[in-house]
Amino acid sequence: MVHSSSQLWAKHIMDDIHVKAQLGRYPLRGFSTFQRVPHFDELVFLSTGLTRVPLEGYKEKCNTRTVIGSRFAKEPLILETPIYISGMSFGALSRSAKAALGKGASKVGTATCTGDGGQCEDERKFSDKLIYQILPSRYGFNPRHMLGAQALEVLVGQGAKPGSGGLLMGKKISAVIAEQRDLPEGIDQRSPTRHPDWFGPDDLSIKIEQLREATDGRIPIHIKLAACRVRDDVKIAAKIGADAIVIDGMQGGTGASPDVMLDHTAIPTMASVTAAREALEEIGLYGKVSLIISGGIRNGADAAKALALGADAVAIGQAALIALNCNKHIPGVTDYPKEVGVEAGYCRYCDTGKCPVGITTQDPKLEARLDPDEAGDRVANFLNAMTMEMALIARSVGKSDVHSLEPEDLAALTMEASLMTKVPLAGTDYRPWENGKKSHGGKKCI
Ligand code: SF4
Repeated sequence: MVHSSSQLWAKHIMDDIHVKAQLGRYPLRGFSTFQRVPHFDELVFLSTGLTRVPLEGYKEKCNTRTVIGSRFAKEPLILETPIYISGMSFGALSRSAKAALGKGASKVGTATCTGDGGQCEDERKFSDKLIYQILPSRYGFNPRHMLGAQALEVLVGQGAKPGSGGLLMGKKISAVIAEQRDLPEGIDQRSPTRHPDWFGPDDLSIKIEQLREATDGRIPIHIKLAACRVRDDVKIAAKIGADAIVIDGMQGGTGASPDVMLDHTAIPTMASVTAAREALEEIGLYGKVSLIISGGIRNGADAAKALALGADAVAIGQAALIALNCNKHIPGVTDYPKEVGVEAGYCRYCDTGKCPVGITTQDPKLEARLDPDEAGDRVANFLNAMTMEMALIARSVGKSDVHSLEPEDLAALTMEASLMTKVPLAGTDYRPWENGKKSHGGKKCI
């Protein structure tokens, strides 16, 4: 006789306990959270009817050009699309993957970001616009590389593992990566969690000034935060001088993280946008400090919804890797069951260095499976398709600029989404968050 399954002690819970009982430690993995959390699918656009006139797709242009960091920087980051590639380290990713991301981003006039571990030569060579990350680890940090960047990003936290440092397993620390990071080859590496030269907002404001002075105030300085106490963090980051703030929600991807951090820390990306926008509105800096959202952005609809809620741009990581070929079976080349133990589509083993498609590996034989030119074309195609989706949505709600999308263009499909975003539930005008207070008052329209 088979008893029905227990909700509390489900099979995957028992498997988890068996693994911990055997290993005596917590499990690690790549990819992103397995939790089912509210996401942008729970919002829809209210396209035109008799109240709004749509734009004609073939005749009327929709602007996607995006300016980031014009608050203080003499040379803000100008992108042809409000989507760029988020920071992923050379080490977590292969050289070919970094080169392909740079090529793809440059083809569509957008930027890539270095991530931990310093600047990969090929990434710099092929990226017209490169954001240089300043991290607690300082692995591979080089002031000359910093001076050559088009923006700086001070990483305070990331959504996949807020409050804990990066991980790079020994199998991925090849001789090249070991030299770049000044680490022993083949030994598991944990990046520090906190920056060694600042401990709080006062110190960080001095650091921001130092970076601004070092770069002659030329390029924007971003602060990247994991989506946790979003309102307070955004206000602090804005007040200490950030040109742009990046909020990374709990759906953010990673090359390696403890399971427990991926699934039980940070708040959903969708919930963070409204909180961040309202925080900037409350201190009068909305529209002055650029707001960038990342964490589980999969398509033009997700990106358009983030912009409608208040973001100026989005950054993509996992989606860009999937465009490179992550989880795709290549006949005659890959054998997922033999190489990682699961079929293509179910691989989450970026931490192992065994990536069947050459993206998250330092094994030369595996890396040879990724052609940077072809992969770069796929990334460019994907970015173009996402941008076109955004423009299509914007036209359908009567907007000639994707930055003119606003919360009033949206309806929520669930109570959770409605309360998190302050967008009324579809078919209702129920606004329990208002309590006599006007919301969405500060959204700029172009
Ligand atoms: S295919 Fe490669 S990049 Fe994708 S999840 Fe597997 S190991 Fe990671």
